[in-house]
Amino acid sequence: MDAVNLPAPGSKTRIVVVGGGFAGLNFVSKLDTRAYQVVLLDRHNYHTFAPLLYQVATAGIEAPDVCGPLRKSFRGKQDFHFRMLEARGIDPDRRVIRTGAGTIRYDHLVLATGTRANFFGNANVAAHALPLKTVPDARRLRNHIFQTLEQVDMTDDPRERERLMTFVIVGGGPSGVELAGALSELRRHVLDRDYPDTPMGGLRFVLVEGSDQLLGGFSEKSSADARRNLEEMGVELRFGTLLSDYDGRTATLKDGSTIETATVIWGAGVTGEIIRGLGEGSVTKARYVIDDRLRVRAYDNVYALGDIAFLTNDSWPKGHPGVAQVAIQMGQRLARNFNALAKGEPTRPFVYFDKGNLAIIGRNRAVADLPKNVHLNGFPAWFIWAFVHIFYLIGWRNRLFTFLTWASNYVTYNRAVRLVLEPSLENQFDPERVGEIEE
Ligand SMILES: Cc1cc2nc3c(=O)[nH]c(=O)nc-3n(C[C@H](O)[C@H](O)[C@H](O)COP(=O)(O)OP(=O)(O)OC[C@H]3O[C@@H](n4cnc5c(N)ncnc54)[C@H](O)[C@@H]3O)c2cc1C
Repeated sequence: MDAVNLPAPGSKTRIVVVGGGFAGLNFVSKLDTRAYQVVLLDRHNYHTFAPLLYQVATAGIEAPDVCGPLRKSFRGKQDFHFRMLEARGIDPDRRVIRTGAGTIRYDHLVLATGTRANFFGNANVAAHALPLKTVPDARRLRNHIFQTLEQVDMTDDPRERERLMTFVIVGGGPSGVELAGALSELRRHVLDRDYPDTPMGGLRFVLVEGSDQLLGGFSEKSSADARRNLEEMGVELRFGTLLSDYDGRTATLKDGSTIETATVIWGAGVTGEIIRGLGEGSVTKARYVIDDRLRVRAYDNVYALGDIAFLTNDSWPKGHPGVAQVAIQMGQRLARNFNALAKGEPTRPFVYFDKGNLAIIGRNRAVADLPKNVHLNGFPAWFIWAFVHIFYLIGWRNRLFTFLTWASNYVTYNRAVRLVLEPSLENQFDPERVGEIEE
């Protein structure tokens, strides 16, 4: 019996999926629910299109444009049941998953929980740096950026002004590069016009990367192109060092240097969203170890997909990359295998088809590594990036709205959403607002 209210599966096999990200969504959409009952759990009631979060944070598009409501995505799908719940534990012997609302029984369990920001045990950095992993993170970052700019306009102390105008981005992967590029474009095309009393040329964007190159995992050519583009756009690049401390005022780097800043954006580390309960050998480096049928080691009815899964083979001896395409293809492969089993047909191993890598840096500036060693830079890469991202967004509404917003931003050099909707109340508390009891 389930403690959470759910219809009984009857004679069908019940598959419980935890996580409605790229992997979970694609698994459910390809699964033939004439043969299976499927229960999807997610702590949010929407799918997040993470590759465009940086645009939400830099006022390019609205938060709802990168969200797909999970119930709407599967409206009309037979024997599909969504519950907005956080999975907190697995009991593989009793075949149940524990949630805040009670237990749910499963025949097969699919874990697609992705990753969360990891501050590597640094409590100071965790308390003061701003991660970019979720929609609330992106909105918080946007509020912070535009509220900080408002503070700049009200400050006449040159040192404080400099501190407020310095933005540090930690991590030179795709999201760090995209964010640095977007902030630089914002300075060039929008802020000068919005803040006539403040010379916005004083804004500094510092990108800190631990290795000696940007976009690790991309080709050397794309990495060099990204570097050249960001340098042309005035982004300061610091290679071979990491952030070791940040107290909200001063960022200290591993090389001993310090940067006075009101903003540190954290894009340097993630860790797997592991749900406790499976045997020890099934997890390594906060990822579930899986075989080519995507089964978690030592279990024949538990599977892991996407960023949370660790799968090695001859082509990927260090594991598959944590990118959306891997998650999408894993979700689709596992669903096809379940559909094959229902028809008494053999299952197939997972083989990743690498379609390449894309990263946008700014207006008409992007890099693309495509199959057959084709590397593109500039407008062609930018055009492909825009097309692919519109195509993969969830739902026609999001595709249409994002396309129209981008088209308008492109033509007008504007950013539509530079609003501080949830201001931080720090330094803004007005005792008079408390009011008095009216007799
Ligand atoms: C800012 C940013 C930019 C990125 N840019 C790119 C890019 O340009 N190209 C690219 O290919 N990849 C990019 N990625 C990586 C890509 O987003 C991930 O590889 C992809 O999201 C992995 O899909 P997933 O389904 O494994 O996990 P996710 O998409 O992270 O989904 C996990 C889901 O599980 C849910 N969940 C987690 N734990 C629980 C729990 N205990 N109970 C219930 N629900 C839970 C979460 O709410 C979430 O909905 C980016 C990521 C970020 C953060």
